[in-house]
Parts: sequence; C-alpha cells; structure tokens
Amino acid sequence: MPRYEYRCRTCGDTFELSRPMAESSAPAACPAGHDDTVKLLSAVAVGGSGTAAPARSGGGGGGGCCGGGCCG
Ligand SMILES: [Zn+2]
Repeated sequence: MPRYEYRCRTCGDTFELSRPMAESSAPAACPAGHDDTVKLLSAVAVGGSGTAAPARSGGGGGGGCCGGGCCG
C-alpha cells in the first residue's frame, strides 16, 4: 500500500499515511486531530529522512569571503 505524506496547516506537522491510492486525496486528519491538511508530493525514493535544505554543502560562489582575495 502506498504511503502519502501530508502536512497539517493548523499545527504545521507533517505525517505519513498508508492508504489505498483511491483514497490518496481523501481528507486526512493529523495526529493531533486537525483536519486542515494538505497532501504533499511523495518523497519515498529519497534515501534518508530529514531533507530540509538540499543545497547546503559545497560553498563557494555564494558571495563568501574566499575567492575575492580577502581571506588569502
Ligand atoms: Zn495538526
């Protein structure tokens, strides 16, 4: 059974539900009981949890110090 991710617009919490595809767009109440939720695009294929800011590592070219000659 596919898993779907939802976000509660009342408390901002995100949660997953396993439900039939036919019910993917059916209303889903958050764990706290709020029913003002929206369905998110599933990210099941992403290896790992807690994906907040993908382009965080790497640096350089972001208007930093290095590269301008001020930290050499
Ligand atoms: Zn909620």
